Amino acid sequence: MTVIDLESYEDALATYDPVMGLEVHVELGTKTKMFCGCSTELKQDANSQTCPVCLGLPGALPVVNEIGVESAIKIGLALNCQIAEWCRFARKNYFYPDMPKNFQTSQYDEPIAFDGYLDVQLEDGEIFRVEIERAHMEEDTGKSTHVGGATGRIHGASHSLLDYNRAGIPLIEIVTKPIEGAGARAPEVAKAYVAELRELIKALGVSEARMEMGQMRCDVNLSLRPNGTEKFGTRSETKNVNSLRSVERAARFEIQRHAAVLNSGGTIVQETRHFHEEDGSTTAGRIKDNAEDYRYFPEPDLVPVAPSREWVEELRKGLPELPRLRRKRLKEEWGVNEHDMQSILNAGAVDLIVATTDAGAPSDQARKWWMGELARNANETGRSLDELPITPAQVARVAALVAAGDLNDKLARQVIEGVLAGEGDPDTVVEKRGLKVVSDEGALSTAVDEAIAGNAAIADKIRGGKVAAAGALVGAVMKATRGQADAARVRELILEKLGVEG
Ligand SMILES: [Zn+2]
Repeated sequence: MTVIDLESYEDALATYDPVMGLEVHVELGTKTKMFCGCSTELKQDANSQTCPVCLGLPGALPVVNEIGVESAIKIGLALNCQIAEWCRFARKNYFYPDMPKNFQTSQYDEPIAFDGYLDVQLEDGEIFRVEIERAHMEEDTGKSTHVGGATGRIHGASHSLLDYNRAGIPLIEIVTKPIEGAGARAPEVAKAYVAELRELIKALGVSEARMEMGQMRCDVNLSLRPNGTEKFGTRSETKNVNSLRSVERAARFEIQRHAAVLNSGGTIVQETRHFHEEDGSTTAGRIKDNAEDYRYFPEPDLVPVAPSREWVEELRKGLPELPRLRRKRLKEEWGVNEHDMQSILNAGAVDLIVATTDAGAPSDQARKWWMGELARNANETGRSLDELPITPAQVARVAALVAAGDLNDKLARQVIEGVLAGEGDPDTVVEKRGLKVVSDEGALSTAVDEAIAGNAAIADKIRGGKVAAAGALVGAVMKATRGQADAARVRELILEKLGVEG
């Protein structure tokens, strides 16, 4: 691998001002493809979900997927965009084997949504506004697998396999305006933007937006200009970056690489670049000059899309609470600080805690169990919280049993352990394992009497004023009741019976 010169990040920023443009592709979660009735279900046999339309056979006629248009409008509205009253699809002509029509059906100068913005929150709480240029509808290509080479790339491969199941799956491409003024925080802004966009898409229910599955991917355009100047520098375009961390790393790497090239008197080549997860580097892809000619023209086989204003307003009214505002509201309702809220977010616990409080648990209890015992278990077993075999309603039930005094924390942990082990509902586990706080005063009193009789020497010490020794007797009672007594009450009883003041 060729070694790429990098400037130190601090030195790069001392001289240059980064300008970014982010293009995010989101695969919609529609049941059928954008222009035909083929299923979009994953992991089927290669080429089993195809038809003359998505195979681009001559004479096949496409029809627009209404849910695809609806999803695009929802995304546009959530991004504060204007929604076109009338727009068309366009053919983007180029040849590649994974695109059997030899053109991609996309939108060009008439996107369905345009001129919006998304406010994103940075780690220190600052809000940064990212302006949105456009969001347009298009279709995905098929998938090529290059076989026989060492790298999986086409170079060195003996042959290629083509699977058109993905061809025609609806995509929305969301393009920002140039992001200026972020300075050294540009990589952080890029990451925060993609994170916020992902939350938004999920909240809208139009896609699961799972980056690791390619349902959402980001192209990072980046250029540098000398500090204090206006004119944009030449940009590079790092393609298909598919995790939040990688988006940040790709931007950072390109800032350092551009600065090194410029500082050594070189010029930046306008090109696409590949991002490498292993070391966070990028390498050159293909040269991409502005003159690249896709010979766009309006798609003659599809009618224009003209969403009525009534429909758009109806969709606007149906929009869910936006993620940033929801987080802000929950943070206030739960009375947590920014740091704790961030931990809850990072743990993927927000929705679980909400569902647990909806099931009747106080929010501090819901937080305590999900961020404590359950987070620990998830961590130890390499699962995410939502993969644990326990429901928010079950966690709420455990919290209710604690609140009623039927369980103490120690017993509650055992109940949760039982639920996770598949022993059944909290009540079933309590029943089966015989876990219940002994609140029957008569039974407790007997247990205390027995502990005093069995530990006469300690009891004498306590009578003589060594109150601290009571711990040993409390321990004996807890042991005798298998941890099912209220320790504070046991202590009270011991001191009472021995005639000492607590
Ligand atoms: Zn099809």
